[in-house]
Amino acid sequence: AAIHLADYQAPAWRVLDTRLTFDLAPSATRVTTVLTLEANPDAAVGSDATPPLVLNGEHLTLESVRVDGRALASDEYKLDETHLTLAGLPANCELETVVVIDPAANTALEGLYVSSGMFCTQCEAEGFRRITYYPDRPDVMSVFTTTIIADKDSYPILLSNGNPIERGEREGGRHFVTWQDPHPKPCYLFALVAGDLVKHDDSFTTMSGRDVALEIWVEPENLDKTQHAMNSLKASMKWDEEVYGREYDLDIFMIVAVNDFNMGAMENKGLNIFNSACVLANPDTTTDAAFQRVEGVVAHEYFHNWSGNRVTCRDWFQLSLKEGFTVYRDQTFSADMNSAPVKRIEDVAMLRTAQFAEDAGPTAHPVRPASYIEISNFYTLTIYEKGSEVVRMVANLLGEEAFRRGSDLYFARNDGSAATIEDFISAMSEASGRDFSQFMRWYSQAGTPNIAASGTFDAQAGTYSLTLRQSTPPSPGQAEKLPLVIPVRMGLVGADGSDLTLTLDGEALGTEIVLELTEAEQTFVFTGLAGDAEPVPSLLRGFSAPVKLAFDYSREQLAFLMQHDSDGFNRWDAGQRLAMAALEDLMAAWQRGEQEAQLDERLLAAYRFLLQSEASDRAVLAEMLTLPSEAYIAEQQSVVDVDAIHWARKTAKAQLASALRDDFVALYHANAQQGDYAPTFEQMARRSLKNAALSYLMSIEDEEGMRLSQAQLAAAHNMTDVRAALTMLVHSSRTDLGDPALKSFAERWSHDPLVMDQWFSIQVTRPQADVLDRVRFLMEHPAFSLTNPNKVRALIGAFAGQNRVNFHRLDGEGYRLLADVVIELNRLNPEIAARIITPLTRYKRFDAKRQDLMKAELERIRGEKLSNNLYEVVEKALA
Ligand code: ZN
Repeated sequence: AAIHLADYQAPAWRVLDTRLTFDLAPSATRVTTVLTLEANPDAAVGSDATPPLVLNGEHLTLESVRVDGRALASDEYKLDETHLTLAGLPANCELETVVVIDPAANTALEGLYVSSGMFCTQCEAEGFRRITYYPDRPDVMSVFTTTIIADKDSYPILLSNGNPIERGEREGGRHFVTWQDPHPKPCYLFALVAGDLVKHDDSFTTMSGRDVALEIWVEPENLDKTQHAMNSLKASMKWDEEVYGREYDLDIFMIVAVNDFNMGAMENKGLNIFNSACVLANPDTTTDAAFQRVEGVVAHEYFHNWSGNRVTCRDWFQLSLKEGFTVYRDQTFSADMNSAPVKRIEDVAMLRTAQFAEDAGPTAHPVRPASYIEISNFYTLTIYEKGSEVVRMVANLLGEEAFRRGSDLYFARNDGSAATIEDFISAMSEASGRDFSQFMRWYSQAGTPNIAASGTFDAQAGTYSLTLRQSTPPSPGQAEKLPLVIPVRMGLVGADGSDLTLTLDGEALGTEIVLELTEAEQTFVFTGLAGDAEPVPSLLRGFSAPVKLAFDYSREQLAFLMQHDSDGFNRWDAGQRLAMAALEDLMAAWQRGEQEAQLDERLLAAYRFLLQSEASDRAVLAEMLTLPSEAYIAEQQSVVDVDAIHWARKTAKAQLASALRDDFVALYHANAQQGDYAPTFEQMARRSLKNAALSYLMSIEDEEGMRLSQAQLAAAHNMTDVRAALTMLVHSSRTDLGDPALKSFAERWSHDPLVMDQWFSIQVTRPQADVLDRVRFLMEHPAFSLTNPNKVRALIGAFAGQNRVNFHRLDGEGYRLLADVVIELNRLNPEIAARIITPLTRYKRFDAKRQDLMKAELERIRGEKLSNNLYEVVEKALA
């Protein structure tokens, strides 16, 4: 049944204190919970009697219940599959429950489970109810004291939130540690880890001079992969002090790496638990992209200590309060640590492909959803990435200083409590004096807004009139949309390439301004342009709002902006628009049945210009030399033609490579690695530029390119270059080179699961038509496992998400394979099942034949006994 935001009610009971004792054993762990309870006076029921106490609990075997020391008979409480209910309790009482759980059988990876022989937990959003009976909701906050008892040999390390206050020995080779967390928290921030782990130690002195012990806990063989995460953690702690004035608040901060994990990581108070893929890194095994992901995720989880933990969410509808804000914080941090324009380009590229697709699909929802069936399904790109864009708009509308005042006010006012999105926005509003009432629609309206922009130049009058029209398409359950507040940062670029002075209503405002579009249609008339030639508008600079903006640019204007726009993001975007136009020509030719077509000369000229100009920012150049992805091209089409997209992109790339072959060879050599590897952004930029050049050469299987790839594969000592070369060889027609290379790679790295993930992904993204057999074959490989989410993503996720031509085969075999996996995962891990199914739910974007095939697989899945997770997604998809 669906849960609605409008039905929110304050909790009937408060938990003043929580004392947990875990007697750990893989198949039968006993959990004793003692709760100090108080009927909530703010939630009075209107009589003297206390309201019933309704505790959540799932997959628990209840052994006993005591109230104030007295054991209850089984007719003194109500027990069902999901709740334990007690009535007639005194307004202040102590409740003790004892349950037994089976962590070894927990393949859902929610609650307490076993991963590679260690115990660990994942409680957000509703995993704590698989550990013990508890009011599992974020607005119930309590102090936790946790005692962990376990076999000393198998589990020498016992961790939980807060500070260790006691440890000792027990009979039978067992030992215990007691942890106490002084900060009241909701149970979703609880964590426990027990295992045979080693730590990387360091420390950090906070701005007020307190010493914090930093510990990264890993399996012994991974100790050489923790330095980057430690550096990232220290940089994050410093940055949050400097930029937001936020200081860490415990004496110890721990990170633990876990192999089986549904998501990236989790911000449990003082004890962050990470998917090993988001914390472990070293040059031999980890690509530059993964190094950057580690830095970003470590920062994200650390930043949650304030935006999430000190100030948490009142209910799960407010999820973006912590996630959108924290993503905004980690994006800004990464921009400060690396190339800011490249970070922005990457984030926007992801938003415009994956989040826009979600916003246009059957599970579209607002940044603050109005209802849900299964909250795990709402850890989405909309909550995270669009949520971050909304916070970014707030920050840009207010300016740095007022935004910081607003953030200080928000933290001060809501510290130690469970807040709402209104609390955040009202702090911003009070700190700035700005009215956010219309702006709030960003939180309640789903769908990506469109802006249709048009301009007319009157040379004689010296005016340029810019008309902006906004509209948001209907989304499930929301037919009508109201106008949003859309900040459009813009300039007018004059014929000589420089920005013109912008005069509106007789006032000269500088060369770059933010237009605030608040109505369905508005026209802005810029004056004082007499004597100028027609300017070219540069709109939505820095991607100032998460919208689709259309303007009827000529290709000459796009080539001009690509060279001259003073905004780095818009230079890149103009290049993407020009490339899109050229790709559309090619797709049209393909659809007319032509086997050959000529790439637009203007794109070629633009590339020639890029390759021959002195690169100021290599990382940006590498982005500019990358054609729009197949996923992005698909987003621009009304009916997705996967084959036309694939052919057009391949053809464009090959023609660019042939025409500019010598430039690419030169670019390769100019950026070949010098000196020792370091994950600095200067070096990363060189590697990405070099490998971009190589991928052009390999697209035409150029002899020199082939030779360079093989040499790079043999000589490189970093995974970025190894993986790039291996991928290019494996994706080429030369299986005589690719297959042996894959074989020796597997021999070398079979002991390292994160490297084997890459080995799977490289193979299943091969464009060749026989790849499906390979996918089925690899699912039987000893290194593959359906119970490990990283493996499922590396193999099934990469195939269905990135190998578009083969996933969408016309015989439906790609769809069938995905559906088979979804059906298995429905039993093993519902959260992952409901994520991996995504490509099938987007069937409306395709031709009738493919739609029918995809729907048939969805119907087949619907015929199973479904988890809540899949039920919600499949019903919405088929609605
Ligand atoms: Zn988060």
